[in-house]
Amino acid sequence: MINHSEWEYENQDYLKEHYEKRLMGKDTHLFVRKFHCKGCGRVFYTTIGTKKYCLYSLCGNHGYQKELKWRREQERKDRICQTCGNPFTPKRSDAKFCCNACRQKAYRESVTDTASGHADHLQQS
Ligand SMILES: [Zn+2]
Ligand SMILES: [Zn+2]
Repeated sequence: MINHSEWEYENQDYLKEHYEKRLMGKDTHLFVRKFHCKGCGRVFYTTIGTKKYCLYSLCGNHGYQKELKWRREQERKDRICQTCGNPFTPKRSDAKFCCNACRQKAYRESVTDTASGHADHLQQS
């Protein structure tokens, strides 16, 4: 006895056929969705709306681990400080500056820019 996921895994050609039928506007009783497996990345056809993996027992756990690892890598990746240009490892995912001093400097410059623009204007008149 195989479950529906396993059946779909074994019958991709059949599902693809129905997917393409629907694309061409032909009548089919199956609503087939096309997606990329989050685990192995290959194209998979399914009638299950919430499906993310070609076969959970095959890619589910593996895919989840891979995604976690990828996310952690993205978080750990060095960024370039917008003030001093040095690469740094952000502690927060939205960090833009390597340190508080740089963040404050950037803030002060953005304030001074508008302020000095006003000053120039005043001096000219
Ligand atoms: Zn897969
Ligand atoms: Zn910096």
